[in-house]
Parts: sequence; structure tokens; C-alpha cells
Amino acid sequence: MTAISGIRLQSRLAALARFGGLPGGGVTRPAWSPQHEEARAWLLAEMRGAGLEAWVDTAGNVFGALGARAFDATHPAVLTGSHIDTVPEGGSLDGALGVLAGLECLQTVHAAGAPHRRPLAVAAWSDEEGRYGSLFGSRAFCGTLDVPRIPEMAAVDGERLVDAMQRAGFEARRAPEARVPPGSVAAYVELHIEQGPRLDEARIPIGVVDAIVGVRRSRVVFSGQADHAGTTPMDRRRDAFLAAADFALKTREHVVSRGSSRSVTNFGVVYVHPGASNIVPRRAELVHEMRDPDPNVLERLAGECAALAQDVARQHQITVEVRPMSATKPVPCAPRVQKTIEEACGALGLASQRLYSAAGHDAQNLALITEAGMIFIPSKGGRSHRVDEASDPAAIERGTNVLLHTLLALAR
Ligand SMILES: [Zn+2]
Repeated sequence: MTAISGIRLQSRLAALARFGGLPGGGVTRPAWSPQHEEARAWLLAEMRGAGLEAWVDTAGNVFGALGARAFDATHPAVLTGSHIDTVPEGGSLDGALGVLAGLECLQTVHAAGAPHRRPLAVAAWSDEEGRYGSLFGSRAFCGTLDVPRIPEMAAVDGERLVDAMQRAGFEARRAPEARVPPGSVAAYVELHIEQGPRLDEARIPIGVVDAIVGVRRSRVVFSGQADHAGTTPMDRRRDAFLAAADFALKTREHVVSRGSSRSVTNFGVVYVHPGASNIVPRRAELVHEMRDPDPNVLERLAGECAALAQDVARQHQITVEVRPMSATKPVPCAPRVQKTIEEACGALGLASQRLYSAAGHDAQNLALITEAGMIFIPSKGGRSHRVDEASDPAAIERGTNVLLHTLLALAR
């Protein structure tokens, strides 16, 4: 049976981790940064060296292919991929694994002369982590970019996407041209680390993703009354922060008790105004995030949390406004792709388990234009988005062989 080279893959993972590599381990390689652009140049050279056609589209996505120079509906390609950008102080596998495993699979197919009726391609999608716009490259490819918003898209430090892309040699206004014709992708399958503890704890080598969670974010703004923090009696205060804190705790309780077993919620951003120790907070702003793989559960929880915010505001005798910021729908993976992955596991003698993805991935955009699926491998201790993110080399090799045989079966 054709097999990938685990050693070659490990050496490429180590090489890519040097771009934006941190002295104590880990990687900071945000989209469009100089480190990212050096990694892109390296990746293109690796792809060409491996015998692939390689090119970059107007959204900054990198492609390598066997049997194709572009995406067209007369020869639909079987596509794999992931991303080479990272979160700040991230690990060396999130994204990088899917791209380099895809390259390894295509190189193996090329070298072995393994038959494939359909073209095979690997993608490195730009700005998956959303420094400027989450899943930017795969959105452009699938035609779901919010084009009018491009000029105003910016990083948290205020840097505009337009400027970051220009520095890297791209024109942001041309990103929508990356959209491919309908029918030009026959199937998409992405290999990724699980980024959670389920496979590692169950000691199961392969996860077959059946759905990707939807994520809803809203800005919740409580407005009370600023007052002198020393002279105003406690019972006369209309403290916006304490209402916000009360809301956060009650939301957690509500999501745990009334959500599904898979619902999660987070308050990762809190601003208190005017933000002085001797002033009772007049305004408190929270960013509230919720995730669930079931669209009905997510919809119901969003409505209940908005009502809860009003209740809390009333109890604290202040006002609140809930403004939706973004909502991605939960996406089911294609049954045919799941079945093909399981057959590849069967042929390789590997146990597998179906699970949902609790993180967003480019595959959720590809699912809008083709049959899409994902393969997960265990993350040690479930650790991810941190410098000590790791997976066993043997687990990486197993997952990449599953990817190889899944791609070959889909391209047959
Ligand atoms: Zn990722």
C-alpha cells in the first residue's frame, strides 16, 4: 500500500516552524506579516521542488496541484489544505499540518505514479485565524467574502487589511477575483489537529468530523450612571460593570443548564468606561461568544441570552443593548467524505471515531461549494493555540496516510 514519508513531513514541519519561530518554542506568524510572506515563498518553492504546479491567487491563497494549473469545472479537482498563518504565540501544527500533509500526499502520489482520474490540489488558505478577517482566503475562494467591508477590515491594533496586503504585494480590492467557477472542486478534505482532548483521552488515532460548530458573537453594552466612587452610597449606584458581571455569570449558568452538552460560551473582551478606579462605571461592553454544532440550539440560546440581558439590566436599574456582530452557521460534513475517510481507516487498520469540530475551519466554507469533510488527529493534552501544542510523530504519520488514501479514493 502506498505510504507517505513521515520523516520528510517532520522535517518540513520543523522548517516551516522557523518562520516566526519564538525563542522558547511556538510560532507567531500572522497573515500578511513578513514572517508569513517568507513562509509563503518557502512553501511555493517546496511545492515546485516536489513536482507540483504552484500558484497564488488574488486573495493570497497558495495552491499546489497535480494535473491542473487552475480550478475549472471541466476538470473538477479533489482539494485538501489548511493554513500557514498562526495566532500570536501559537503552535507549529495548527494549520501547518494540513498544508504540509497535503503537500506530502501529493508528492507521494506523484513519485509513486499512483493513478488519479481527477486533478489533486493542496491549498494554504490566507488569514484563517482572522487577524483581519476570519477565514478570509477560503471565503474569497468560495465567493462568500463581504466585499463592501474589505476597505474597513482591520486588525485589533488598527492596521487595515488593505495596507497589510499591499505591504505583502497584494491588492485587497482584487481579492474577490479568487472566487472559483461553480463545480470546479469535486471534494474537499482537511487534516487538522483536534485542538481538544477527546481523541487523546479516548486513545483513538483518527477523528472523522461530522459537523463544524457555528459561532455567534454579539456586543452587549450595559449603560448605567457614572458617579463618585467614594461619596455615592452603595444602594444608589447604577453600576454598569456589576450588571455586566452578573450577566456573564448568569449566561454561563444558563448555557450549561439549558444548552446542549456541546454548547460553550465565552466572554473574552470586556471594556469598562470611563475606566477609573474612583468612578462608578457608566458603561460596560462585553463581547459574548457562543458555539454549538446544532443550529436550532444556537438560535434558541441566542434569543434566551438576549432576554436574560434585559432581565439583568432591569434588576440593576440600567439599560442594555445587544448587537449581533457575526454568526457562522454550524456546517454538517458530507456523508460521502466521512464514509471515504472511514474506509481509508479500515484499510489502514486504524480505529476511528466520529466527532464534531468545536473550532471553526476553512472546511466550513468549502462545504458551501462542494462535498467537504475533515480528519482529526489527537492533540497531546488537548492543547492548542499555545506554544506547547503537540501531536505524536506517529499520530501525524497515521493521519497523513489516512488523508492520502481518502484523496486517492475521492479522485478515483
Ligand atoms: Zn487551524
